[in-house]
Amino acid sequence: MLSVEEYLERVVGLARTLPAEEVAIDAGAGRVLAEDLPARFAVPPFDNSAMDGFAVRAAGLSEGVRLRVVGDVPAGASSASEVGVGECVRIMTGAPMPPGGDSVVPVELTDQPMGDAPLPEWVTVREVVTEGKHVRRRGEDVAVGDVVLSAGTVWSPEAAAAASSIGYSTVRLRRRPRVAVLATGDELVSPGEELGFGQIPDSNSYLLAGLVARFGGEVVLRRAVGDDPAEFRAVLDEAMGADVVVTTGGVSVGAFEVVRQVVEGQIEFVKVAMQPGKPQASGKLRSAEGREVAFVGLPGNPVSVWVSAWLFLRPLLAAYSGVGGEAPNLDLGPVRMHGESLILPVRQGWKKPVGRRQYIPVRLVDGGVAPSHALGSGSHLIASLHLADGLAVVPAESDGPGDTVEVLLTR
Ligand code: AMP
Ligand code: MG
Repeated sequence: MLSVEEYLERVVGLARTLPAEEVAIDAGAGRVLAEDLPARFAVPPFDNSAMDGFAVRAAGLSEGVRLRVVGDVPAGASSASEVGVGECVRIMTGAPMPPGGDSVVPVELTDQPMGDAPLPEWVTVREVVTEGKHVRRRGEDVAVGDVVLSAGTVWSPEAAAAASSIGYSTVRLRRRPRVAVLATGDELVSPGEELGFGQIPDSNSYLLAGLVARFGGEVVLRRAVGDDPAEFRAVLDEAMGADVVVTTGGVSVGAFEVVRQVVEGQIEFVKVAMQPGKPQASGKLRSAEGREVAFVGLPGNPVSVWVSAWLFLRPLLAAYSGVGGEAPNLDLGPVRMHGESLILPVRQGWKKPVGRRQYIPVRLVDGGVAPSHALGSGSHLIASLHLADGLAVVPAESDGPGDTVEVLLTR
């Protein structure tokens, strides 16, 4: 029996780095930055005003002094008049500081009205300001050459905004890992079809395909296939164009375990110390052209699929995508789920067998958690899985979740 951590390392070890391509900054949300981005521009790019008011020379100002207004600089102004002693220039937030000006007196500290007013000839300063006051200095946030976005960053609208601010219109993002999703089982029928004796609708392939997309992968094939080895082999051949093939079902020790029958010998079948999700399979397959394809065989029960996907498939796809750069942070502590989990109060407990680490879908209630399903744990409780906000983990030695529990949020 392998620990979850041991098995996770094996699965993540299947990944290889995918090539990057040049993409417009607004086109690649969810993909991963392939290289560090040093700032081409300083941020802010020039000294500018933090307030609407009047740019002045602070030295020698006294309360009640009258200054002659020699110019007006709105944001976007292409030039500004020089500020001399006894003078000022009206300035708006974000507008460039005029030459000679070193500070801004906010309009509130003058005799002038706020808002859209004609340019006055004279301004009375009611309160003096110190030198540099209300001025944002060029480069005070970012200097030219500072690395603002590092390789391994997951692309987002926020990242696009940052990239634009430092002078980029395109960036190099890794391509998404291509994933084939194959659900196995003679009992499976397509959604919406009437059920014959012993038949169930295929939930897993839909669940997994959606999760793959959420984890940053591109689903290139989604198929439900029966338990006939020849049929499975044919679909597997079709799937070999992908980077990763994920299957559900057919990996345990029953009589008609089609995945086991077809790939045993090439792929390792293991037991992992967790509940649900004990039977797992993973390894590398070789395509007809000699390409290596990662293979991950998940158990058949939908809740096992969900748990296994979050625990193993997500880090695998993250490693393919280059999340976190050269050394993805998997933080393989005793129970820590990729270093991203929270400790939350348990609002409603559930049953737990002693001796096995338990993973259970939970929903958020009153700042804590409760099981998503009224029956608590159970790997077949597919109809309540959509209520889950997170995946809770309870250590093997515990006989229940206790007062608090570790939760990976999954929304
Ligand atoms: P298996 O590991 O193939 O024995 O499957 C375990 C359990 O999960 C069985 O009760 C299956 O009916 C169920 N199951 C397997 N595949 C699916 C699927 N694609 N959708 C819903 N339930 C499934
Ligand atoms: Mg089966």
